[in-house]
Amino acid sequence: MGLIERINEVDQRVSEACRRSGRNRNEVNVIAVTKYVSVDQTAAVLDQGILHIGENRWQTAKEKWQALGERGTWHFIGHLQSNKVKDVVGRFQYIHSLDRLSLAKELEKKAEALNLQVQAFMQINISGESTKYGLQPEQAASFLQEMNRFKHINVVGLMTMAPFETSAEDTRPVFRGLRQLRDELNKQAITPEPLTELSMGMSNDFEVAIEEGATWVRLGSILVGKEEN
Ligand SMILES: *Cc1c(COP(=O)(O)O)cnc(C)c1O
Repeated sequence: MGLIERINEVDQRVSEACRRSGRNRNEVNVIAVTKYVSVDQTAAVLDQGILHIGENRWQTAKEKWQALGERGTWHFIGHLQSNKVKDVVGRFQYIHSLDRLSLAKELEKKAEALNLQVQAFMQINISGESTKYGLQPEQAASFLQEMNRFKHINVVGLMTMAPFETSAEDTRPVFRGLRQLRDELNKQAITPEPLTELSMGMSNDFEVAIEEGATWVRLGSILVGKEEN
């Protein structure tokens, strides 16, 4: 299947998931995860009007960003080491992996120096797997409280990664858990503005994530494909 056919198929599946769950199609944003593909393929994605680009490491993103940075909105979706913050802030508008105070301090320092706002998702380890990054759900409220003092970090919502399941349906409790946590945090009114965003769902489980309230799905293999480079 070519890129255009994949884009059409994903778009249709997103629309159907929205319809099934009574949601408006324009509440769901698709991020094209380009970590497996070349600069040319990333350019082709942008040519098709998909302007949200996700990468999980600066090293694999660098060449693409240098060639195409101005054309899209960039999302850093992988674990972010503090010593890589200098490469990422100012280039990636969204960070999906805010998971610790030391990282917030680095982000704040760099964003202040550049006089810009970083849009951030707090990464939460809903599934509780020891191999996954993220705050424990019980830590989320106090962490969010702390974020109020970082004037250059704007927490827009929560992000999680579900365990890989052979049946996507099995990921539903994880996605539902993230939505419930967001709603619970909003009830506590910790931030001046409620958290609106949920970054959840990948190629194998995005429809379930949408049914559970995802506002950003991160799609790699199913949307942009995988290339052997
Ligand atoms: C690679 C990656 C994705 C996309 O993975 P696919 O299964 O190819 O859709 C989404 N989110 C994160 C954090 C990733 O690292």
